[in-house]
Amino acid sequence: MAGILFIISAPSGSGKSTLVAQVRSLVSGLDFSISYTTRPPRGSETDGREYHFTQRDTFEQMVENGEFLEWASVFGNYYGTAFSALEHARAAGKDLLLDIDVQGAVQIMKRMPEAVSIFILPPSPEVLEMRLRNRSEAEHMTSEDVIERRLQQARSELEQIWDYKYALVNDVLDQATAEMRAIVLYERGVRDGVTATAEGCRTDARSLRLMTAMKSFDVG
Ligand code: ADP
Ligand code: 5GP
Repeated sequence: MAGILFIISAPSGSGKSTLVAQVRSLVSGLDFSISYTTRPPRGSETDGREYHFTQRDTFEQMVENGEFLEWASVFGNYYGTAFSALEHARAAGKDLLLDIDVQGAVQIMKRMPEAVSIFILPPSPEVLEMRLRNRSEAEHMTSEDVIERRLQQARSELEQIWDYKYALVNDVLDQATAEMRAIVLYERGVRDGVTATAEGCRTDARSLRLMTAMKSFDVG
């Protein structure tokens, strides 16, 4: 049962970190891969907890040494998943959650087709903008330029959604949490009480909720 790789992608500000934290508090045996990044810590982020914050030259050396399962450049910074995260989770008999962008996700889907991919999207661009603003205000660093760039980026990431097995609309947090929990349990082989919810989140089910959110972003 252990050893499933869950790939989670979402436009920045969709609520992915919030959702993942909720699901991890409800479902045991789910390890979270701590990525390496060259971006500086945000707010209360701590080295070794949200990310391994790394200098650019160290990151480039790790790429050269072949230490990454995947890596990508996002918003001008490097982000990467080390093979060691996979090895730790396997050794501990746990499933592993990877929070990675669409470029990294596509690399892993090719290398490991058995990985379970989940895309999280906000219900509309207006809600996404509000969440981005709330978060940056809380961190005392609102930049119109950054918000605008992230909204543009969200649209282009949403075009990749059909490559993912599942999609979740993070509107009401409790509902999205219940859906993600159902997907994790379903993929572990549980059927009782989770089948309809998990199958309803498959991208090929094209639920009304998913299609409504996609339409609001003007992406078909
Ligand atoms: P991400 O990890 O996708 O960049 P965060 O988890 O940091 O996003 O969430 C962005 C902001 O939106 C945060 O301020 C968070 O509290 C808020 N948020 C997340 N999910 C929801 C939700 N379902 N409803 C309302 N606000 C949410
Ligand atoms: P943030 O800076 O907001 O934490 O993350 C920005 C983007 O980088 C998000 O889309 C996040 O999923 C992605 N990301 C975080 N870690 C990794 C990683 O290890 N690899 C890749 N490819 N993307 C990552």
